[in-house]
Amino acid sequence: MDFSSILFNWYLTNARDLPWRNTTNPYHIWVSEVILQQTRVVQGMSYYYRFIERFPTIQSLAQADIDDIMKVWQGLGYYTRARNLKAGANEVMEQYNGNLPKTYKELLRIKGLGAYSAAAVASFAFDEAVPAVDGNVYRILSRIFGIFTPIDTKTGKKEFFALANELIPKNEPGRFNQALIDFGAMQCTPKSPRCADCPFADYCYAYKNNLIAALPVKGKKKPPIDRYFYYFMIKHKEYTFIKRREEKDIWHSLYEFPMVETDAKLGHDQLIERMASLNFLSGSTVKVLNISQPVRHLLSHRTIWATFIILEIDSPNYILIKEYVRVSIGGVNDYSLPRLIDTYMAAEPVIKYFSSKK
Ligand code: SF4
Repeated sequence: MDFSSILFNWYLTNARDLPWRNTTNPYHIWVSEVILQQTRVVQGMSYYYRFIERFPTIQSLAQADIDDIMKVWQGLGYYTRARNLKAGANEVMEQYNGNLPKTYKELLRIKGLGAYSAAAVASFAFDEAVPAVDGNVYRILSRIFGIFTPIDTKTGKKEFFALANELIPKNEPGRFNQALIDFGAMQCTPKSPRCADCPFADYCYAYKNNLIAALPVKGKKKPPIDRYFYYFMIKHKEYTFIKRREEKDIWHSLYEFPMVETDAKLGHDQLIERMASLNFLSGSTVKVLNISQPVRHLLSHRTIWATFIILEIDSPNYILIKEYVRVSIGGVNDYSLPRLIDTYMAAEPVIKYFSSKK
């Protein structure tokens, strides 16, 4: 079987027309790859256009304020990607005079460029014969060649990279990597792959042995951890308070309401008791206007259970004034927010509690 000939033949009639395929600008390719790491093409497309329009060059990204970058990224999730892009752009400005280096090895040294995106940039923009191995490639190769090594192990990663490296043609590496992406997205999909009209069907180990659902093999996944967030939407006149998350944790650099996290769900009385000890409320007279039902928000390794508590206070204490940003409730949306908060505010008419009319 000549793997790449079969693949290219398929690609001739099935290639998707994607905006980042029509460019050899390595920065644009880098941005598209970072966006697509944990995002579907349909969702990522509009973000790609917006990002490139707002930050058209590495220099413009390096000079941008992180809040502006987060605002463009808002809703896409996995915000570390945006922060790493910015850090990578700074590195490129400082160490490479604003031009992305042209080899896989050098690209790998830049923050935000992992093995996959470095290979994608090197092969798409600079024609280097290095395979871009992602979930699509693991799936396709494990099924066709019958490889049972778990893909999330060091050995598995090495084995699949070595095989892809053997298969990639030296004259058209970028096209090969792109064809594999499309083949994984359209033909050899995770569920219900289209085996009946697949050009690899005669050779495919998984198809011939009825083992499609068993491949690729993954190690045991840890169950998601539950986290309990209590957000306090504090009303003082027509204002509320928000703060940027600075901890090394999810949603770094995004804004949120004053909050506490607990190890377990709090009952109503426990919550009221807990409120009495919150430093940003101490000394204020507090009136509870509304307590939401817990809102479930799924992340890759965690489940967030968020409760939104709307409070009215007579006057903000020095902690609220010093450590938080005072904004009108309508102005909260001008800040980059975690999708959980954004979605909650869009769905719930919280504004009615902030109206100055009694
Ligand atoms: S035959 Fe089915 S499982 Fe095998 S490569 Fe084709 S689509 Fe994937």
